[in-house]
Amino acid sequence: MSTGAYQYCPMCAAPLITRADAASEGGKLRLACPDGHWTHWDNPLPVLAALVEVEGRILLARNAAWPETAYALITGFMERGETPEQGIARELKEETNLDAIGTRLIGVYEFIRKNEVIIAYHVEAAGEIRLSEELADYRLVAPEKLRPWRAGTGYAVADWMRARGLEVEFLDRPLLSPAAPDPAAAKQ
Ligand SMILES: [Zn+2]
Repeated sequence: MSTGAYQYCPMCAAPLITRADAASEGGKLRLACPDGHWTHWDNPLPVLAALVEVEGRILLARNAAWPETAYALITGFMERGETPEQGIARELKEETNLDAIGTRLIGVYEFIRKNEVIIAYHVEAAGEIRLSEELADYRLVAPEKLRPWRAGTGYAVADWMRARGLEVEFLDRPLLSPAAPDPAAAKQ
């Protein structure tokens, strides 16, 4: 069970208790309102990810909060009322100013560590790159020079590379480590 940040019922402000699902439903422990108003189901959140291709090269971006060597895919959460395809096109526009001109599903990937599930797309994009304040830098990398990381979106990169007949060579270390090699520069 998640220890989470929730302590009080959002409806009546009673301190939450721990209760068990029915044994027939697995008996999982949940945080819940003692009066039954609310249950913290703690279901995984979908995250959209884009392997963005611009004129034959793949865009990797570095979040302003990340180490200087860490470059990754464009990601974001969905907004209510939009399809995943609309969501990833919106995130791409917001973060890079690029327009999605073709969007194809790569696959769906677990990210249990963050209680998320990743929906990954290959997005062909066009336009002039202008980064949002969230992003500090970007690289345009030839597809064969991509070095996937063994987590989350890295598996999507690897699957996309295999589908293109490219050899996949994983990074040894997680991408978001200060000592991680730069996937864009790993094979110059
Ligand atoms: Zn309550």
